[in-house]
Amino acid sequence: MSDCIFCKLANHEIPTNVVYENDLACAFEDAEPQAPVHVLVVPKKHYVNMTDDIPAETLAAMAEAVREVARIKDLGDGFRLISNAGAAAGQTVMHLHWHIMGGKNLGEGLLPE
Ligand code: AMP
Ligand code: ZN
Repeated sequence: MSDCIFCKLANHEIPTNVVYENDLACAFEDAEPQAPVHVLVVPKKHYVNMTDDIPAETLAAMAEAVREVARIKDLGDGFRLISNAGAAAGQTVMHLHWHIMGGKNLGEGLLPE
């Protein structure tokens, strides 16, 4: 069995605050939110990051989860979607995840000041 924490969260082996899920992807609350809304969208199967060869249907399921999270969390004013890939980008959990951040004005810059 995998030791990957996000595999376990996405497949209900460890309880967490799930915002939305479909057959291939799961969206749950980030444990250390960096914005009023901070949700992670992950595939239920293990991929390391966006450099992996991810099936189109999995990417579509993740995109659907993004739309649903935006609706559920009332992010009509806007949100940011970020995926860190690799050490230089600061990826700390080696299971693909997309950060959805919003709930406040995030400004125009991509990187923190
Ligand atoms: P990254 O630095 O892009 O790899 O982001 C990893 C994210 O996972 C961070 O925002 C963490 O707060 C979050 N995280 C780590 N462990 C958990 C967990 N058990 N449940 C929810 N979020 C987590
Ligand atoms: Zn995993």
